[in-house]
Amino acid sequence: MKKLLVASIALSGWMISFSQTPEEIWQDGLNKFHEKDFHGSIMRMNELLKIIPEFSYAHYNRGIARLNLGDMDGACIDMSRAVVLGLDKDTKFFEYMCQDGAKYKGLKKHFYRDEEIYPENGYRPRYTRKDSLRGALRPERTCFDVYFYDLTVRINTRKKRIAGENRIHFEVVEPASLIQIDLFPEFSIDGILWEGDRLNYTREFGAVFISFPRQLNAGEKHMLTFQYSGKPGIAERPPWRGGFVWKKDKKRKLWAGVACEHLGASSWWPNKDHLTERPDSMKINLEVPSKYKCVSNGTQGNIVETGRKYARYEWFVNYPINNYNVTFYLGNYVSFTDTAIVEGKPLVLHYEVLPYDLEKAKEHFTQTRDIVEFYSHAYGKYPFMKDGFRLVESPYEGMEHQTAIAYGHRFENAAFEECDSLKYDYIIVHEAAHEWWGNSLCAADMADIWLHEGFATYAELMYLEHSCSKEAYTRELNEKLKMIFNFWPVVENYNVNENSFASNDVYNKGAVILHCLRCNINNDPLFFSLIRDFNLEYRFQAVTSRDFIDFVSRKTGEDYAPFFNKYLYDTKLPVLSYSFTREDGHIRLTYQWTEVEDGFKMPFCIRTNDGRAVRLVGTTMEQATAIDNAEWFNFYNEWQELQGVADNSYTYYRTKWIE
Ligand SMILES: [Zn+2]
Repeated sequence: MKKLLVASIALSGWMISFSQTPEEIWQDGLNKFHEKDFHGSIMRMNELLKIIPEFSYAHYNRGIARLNLGDMDGACIDMSRAVVLGLDKDTKFFEYMCQDGAKYKGLKKHFYRDEEIYPENGYRPRYTRKDSLRGALRPERTCFDVYFYDLTVRINTRKKRIAGENRIHFEVVEPASLIQIDLFPEFSIDGILWEGDRLNYTREFGAVFISFPRQLNAGEKHMLTFQYSGKPGIAERPPWRGGFVWKKDKKRKLWAGVACEHLGASSWWPNKDHLTERPDSMKINLEVPSKYKCVSNGTQGNIVETGRKYARYEWFVNYPINNYNVTFYLGNYVSFTDTAIVEGKPLVLHYEVLPYDLEKAKEHFTQTRDIVEFYSHAYGKYPFMKDGFRLVESPYEGMEHQTAIAYGHRFENAAFEECDSLKYDYIIVHEAAHEWWGNSLCAADMADIWLHEGFATYAELMYLEHSCSKEAYTRELNEKLKMIFNFWPVVENYNVNENSFASNDVYNKGAVILHCLRCNINNDPLFFSLIRDFNLEYRFQAVTSRDFIDFVSRKTGEDYAPFFNKYLYDTKLPVLSYSFTREDGHIRLTYQWTEVEDGFKMPFCIRTNDGRAVRLVGTTMEQATAIDNAEWFNFYNEWQELQGVADNSYTYYRTKWIE
């Protein structure tokens, strides 16, 4: 938002015996605002309000000046006062920024829809046993570890029904005779078999509790066969509100798939549906009408005719895989390949598209090579070399299905004003990053999902910086920063499969937090190696936000808990409290971070009247600095032009001027 109009209004009527008339004070205040001396403008409005306390426009203008300085709380107080005093201007923007109620309406509509959420529960649902059955690592789950799934699913496209079986190979970790496997209640269970016996089970919501006739002992390996059938739910808004997608392509041929990240893979096949549980490898057999081609994850094996005009597509995933990444695409696909070079070795890039898009795709997907090669350099070797990299044209916008990424962005590139010749497709840039952030390293709980989305969104920025410039990076970062809601904490409730995607802050705020970390570290090679090493150290493992915080503290030798505690677990931003004096063209600025834990440290950048950018590092201790030859200053923030900002100093915070 760049165009905030300042009221100009004639003040004839109030005159009088001051050295300056109210009109003169008003006009001077406006002039100062226009030259961006916001402090000067606020001081003039203060004077004016002493003379005419009920003057709504003075409150309004002071509010906008405060906003420009990053003092959102002060701006909100001024705006609400101006409205009470009868201001006849549109203040919708401030209602939105200042009142949680206004944000709530939009967020509820987009992210929770008809699900009830409660203010006393932090505007989250009331979590019940259903949520902990789904989201918690309960003893019936931790007692065993799955190392291999052999899944077969037959997809009846006419009835939109599926039937299949999953052979679940697991090792017993704790002695147990009861285990939990998950499958949505709308499916019927046709049998659970073990060592020739049919096992008894009970169902509670999406959990299936399976009883064994004897205790299974730690270290034993077992296999059970879970047979099921039913009609999977239809996705309301894939990939965000997931399920099956049944569509027709432009030639009126069937085009289908599934996306189920937050919903859960147990919405279509039985598994231990928790983020920490990944098999070491997996077999996926999909039986589909033989007139279509079926694409899935990993490496394609045989296509076997199974009779009745069905064919079985056999796929093998050579690596650990998240349950929600297991997917299929059904359609009239044609394929082609390209090759990227990763650490001197060829990596096959597979593409599956609809025939009428083939030529477009051949041109459009050439950009993928550079993206994958860049990430392999930035985050370590591509994690799934044996399975290759694959983009599949999908009947929904995009989803990071491992080695079978859904691409549904109509082959559109974005252009960048800083780099005329640069064009790329951010969906490829974002989803490809998930092969590192989400698919190899993965979050241990939905509460930690910013480790997927924040890092993948930051990958977009890193790619832009790599292929264009730091200026382009900063401008794009600022666009993301403006889309942050700060309504829910980035990391909130564990063990309940929380909808952490609500508000999108896991994307945008997540990326901005990583940027602020970079500013704090102020050593780009160190920052980039830290990000890379984090990915490499936790490759194929589930991690929590705390693991990342500890990792950063360990690698930098500084305690970063106060920094992350503020940004990840709090909806309020750090506040830079400051005061200043002016003398003979010099400014003495006193500043400290407040509303943060002791030990919080972060840089910020001020801009002087003659355009100098000064990087300062604040802590929770009061510090003072002299800025020579300056009449006034303000802060680089989302309300200002970012041109000239000092490197690694453009951070995300609010201010409070102690006048
Ligand atoms: Zn994503």
